Amino acid sequence: MTATRVLVLNSGSSSVKYQLLDMSDSSRLAVGLVERIGEETSRLKHTPLSTGETRETTGPIADHEAALKAVAEELAKDGLGLDSPELAAIGHRVVHGGKTFTQPTVIDDAVLAEIERLIPVAPLHNPANLTGIRTAQALRPDLPQVAVFDTAFHTTMPEAAARYAIDVKTADEYRIRRYGFHGTSHAYVSRATAELLGKSPEEVNVIVLHLGNGASASAVEKGRCVDTSMGLTPLEGLVMGTRSGDMDPAVIFHLMRVGGMSTDEIDTLLNKKSGLIGLCGDNDMREIRRRIDEGAEDAAQAQLAFDIYIHRLKKYIGAYYAVLGTVDAVAFTAGVGENAAPVREAAIAGLEALGLAVDGELNAVRSGEPRLISPEGARVAVAVVPTDEELEIADQTYALVRNGNA
Ligand code: AMP
Repeated sequence: MTATRVLVLNSGSSSVKYQLLDMSDSSRLAVGLVERIGEETSRLKHTPLSTGETRETTGPIADHEAALKAVAEELAKDGLGLDSPELAAIGHRVVHGGKTFTQPTVIDDAVLAEIERLIPVAPLHNPANLTGIRTAQALRPDLPQVAVFDTAFHTTMPEAAARYAIDVKTADEYRIRRYGFHGTSHAYVSRATAELLGKSPEEVNVIVLHLGNGASASAVEKGRCVDTSMGLTPLEGLVMGTRSGDMDPAVIFHLMRVGGMSTDEIDTLLNKKSGLIGLCGDNDMREIRRRIDEGAEDAAQAQLAFDIYIHRLKKYIGAYYAVLGTVDAVAFTAGVGENAAPVREAAIAGLEALGLAVDGELNAVRSGEPRLISPEGARVAVAVVPTDEELEIADQTYALVRNGNA
């Protein structure tokens, strides 16, 4: 029997998201998530795609090991147990691969050590990813485990885009440079956009706008990333649900000197209390649009947050247009990009001189499929391309292990 199943794990500090896929036809067999690990009210939500019925259990799940065991039990109930010979590998999302990891990588002790060495540049994410890997290894020590890095797709950025204009020695000593994130999404969506245009990735230049709760833009030239908006951390760039994005770094000195705030307080302010939520009290674009569209009492505040969000987005479209020189497509993806027609309309409005326009009727269509929303015959295509990071991780994992390379 050929092993064709891949389990994809995305381990956060108190959560594990997972999907089991069958790579013989890229179909999903089960999806689920464990939340609030370490609390009394941990919750496991598991959906086998054979029935589509979600099973939910609540109760204490002490740590990642217990979480993964609980997931394995749920999978076993559906005949999808992790001890099955059909399981080919486990693919792990790892947030930070630094400059080292330019490709998905089969995990061994040296790889684990390097992911650990990168903790100072990803203190929130890499430790959780490591815990997930070690737990999965303990459960199936014989099985190949593959790390797929959020940063890998961006390692092709030229130095001119990747370096900050600060003292080179200091930058190198502390490994300060622009790494970028959401790489699996940018990789998947740029390829899917080329496919939508009937071209190969090497034939097109694409601006990808990944607009979720976290948001980032990338400039992809002939299949290779040449610039992206997130930097050393996922704080730089676009306005996000709770993060500020670009800002004069001197704001931080000002908050310390004049506001008397601590480093941790400023970190929390910029990462958790800024962006849309800081501007108007909501980080969900649906709620912001509702306030504007219904003319709610506080609609003006929501409108200002929306306008600031769009202004920043437009600046990045213009910047990446200039970086690429010629652009074949602008692709919107992730929660906001895939669903919020008013965001797409406003971001592209007024860019006709760049060959960019949105057709109102096409933009209003709701669909889970990749689609064009630019008018027929437009010089530059505008597209909505649903992202699928789990499928991309499973694909990359399976490609590495299918011929016994692991
Ligand atoms: P993600 O991080 O990709 O899961 O995206 C999550 C975000 O997508 C949410 O915070 C919402 O703001 C946004 N979103 C989801 N559905 C819609 C919708 N129908 N209209 C506008 N925004 C949406």
